[in-house]
Amino acid sequence: MADVRAVKLDGSISTLSGAKIAAFKKQMRGAVVLAGEQGYDQLREVWNGQIDRKPALIARVAGEDDVVAAVNFARDNELLTSVRGGGHNMPGLAVNNGGLMLDLHGLRNVRVDPVARRAYAEPGPTWFDFDYECQAFGLATPGGAVSHTGIAGLTLGGGVGWLSGRHGLTCDNVISFRVVTADGTVRTASADENPDLYWALRGGGGNFGIVTQFEYQLHPVGMMLGGMILYPFDQAKAFFQGYRDYLPSCPDGLTTFGGLFKLPDGTSVAGGIAAWNGDHAEGQKVLDASFRKFTTPMADLLGPIRYCKLQQLIDQQTEPFRRYYVKSNLMREIKDECIDILIDRYTKVPSPLSMMAFQQFGNGIGRVTPDATAYGHRNEKVEQMTFSAWTDPAGDDENRAWAREVSDSVQPFAHGHYVNQVGLESEEGVDHIKAAFGDNWERLVELKTQYDPMNLFRHNQNIRPK
Ligand SMILES: Cc1cc2nc3c(=O)[nH]c(=O)nc-3n(C[C@H](O)[C@H](O)[C@H](O)COP(=O)(O)OP(=O)(O)OC[C@H]3O[C@@H](n4cnc5c(N)ncnc54)[C@H](O)[C@@H]3O)c2cc1C
Repeated sequence: MADVRAVKLDGSISTLSGAKIAAFKKQMRGAVVLAGEQGYDQLREVWNGQIDRKPALIARVAGEDDVVAAVNFARDNELLTSVRGGGHNMPGLAVNNGGLMLDLHGLRNVRVDPVARRAYAEPGPTWFDFDYECQAFGLATPGGAVSHTGIAGLTLGGGVGWLSGRHGLTCDNVISFRVVTADGTVRTASADENPDLYWALRGGGGNFGIVTQFEYQLHPVGMMLGGMILYPFDQAKAFFQGYRDYLPSCPDGLTTFGGLFKLPDGTSVAGGIAAWNGDHAEGQKVLDASFRKFTTPMADLLGPIRYCKLQQLIDQQTEPFRRYYVKSNLMREIKDECIDILIDRYTKVPSPLSMMAFQQFGNGIGRVTPDATAYGHRNEKVEQMTFSAWTDPAGDDENRAWAREVSDSVQPFAHGHYVNQVGLESEEGVDHIKAAFGDNWERLVELKTQYDPMNLFRHNQNIRPK
């Protein structure tokens, strides 16, 4: 086997001998795929079509033992290392240039214990995989609003979805993790075992190790009531003001989106998505008093909807392999000036595929104290997202610049960022990453120093050890 040149943690290039790679391949049950080998290009492809990175080696782990072998190989050779769960992360953190990528996507088993209301999930499933398994028993846990998102990355950075009003963040519903830390040890992290690691994994992203199993608390979730409701674009301000004024009294059963996007014929509209989890007669009253009266809708598509279908409602608007760029800000309130800026900027959007949205936080998320988990932004009420989407590489600069300009313009109203939408330190800068972790930063640095002193897990929203 030929030698392979690979990028090390410090950015320098090393040569891995053919014998060393052959020994690593022998140790793994799953395949180790090198550049040029069959399947390589498909394996390095992720949701965002803009990401075109080329790892030197891709380890397709087949189980926990493979994760240990790959972590030991990466550490002993000081290789730049990245981790792929669902591969859905906007900045493409899963894939690195020139190092080792651990691909967990083949580990997709989800086992449900309907009596204990627990799910035991490997790190590779998407929410599509996870939700169907749980809904077979009328159960669910808060997951992302797009079904092709991976459960692993989303959970580790917090996780917000249609059930969050009642049940909080996804990470608030994790009972235990099994994790391979940088020293190659398999640990359990729960309230009773390694509680500090358990704290860090609930919002600290991929900084602390490679999670091989998530144990989730499940909740009974039957037919939901909700869907999309559309308003004419010239009513956008009235819609956002009504939405904003309603949020403080929004009951836990209702979780929402409010945004701006274009219909397939190019018409700009304001739109809301409502997800009511509870008694339908009560839900109808809640929707009548909120989304149906913020202003006059042009299309009211709210009605009973299966939970798994609600989870797929915006899948098409976010389909894989287009080119994407997302900027995210957390806000404590939606100011009139912010609404004006967003509406004005949307009239100048370069691509008809791009959207803007507020995703609701608050309620169940806000009932957890900010220092109870690594996810600390518990007082923020919405995530303001500028979601640039296009298909032609020639449009990269213009579409990225649009999202950046919008995000810069609303900075006076922002209070940190949602860690799951934040990219590498080289792209974002340290201050942006610190703002994503908020007041929990110092404790996260301490724990990073303890569990990953060489910063093996750095191809993420990185918390550098001391
Ligand atoms: C269209 C779209 C919609 C979204 N909607 C939501 C939403 O509704 N709610 C929400 O909360 N977020 C949402 N997100 C953000 C989402 O949470 C992140 O993109 C998340 O990183 C996706 O997880 P993944 O496993 O697919 O990511 P990947 O790209 O596979 O991984 C991202 C990073 O997560 C870490 N990671 C992944 N797996 C592991 C593991 N097993 N162990 C350790 N670290 C790991 C690594 O650092 C990795 O680089 C959305 C993103 C997009 C693009």
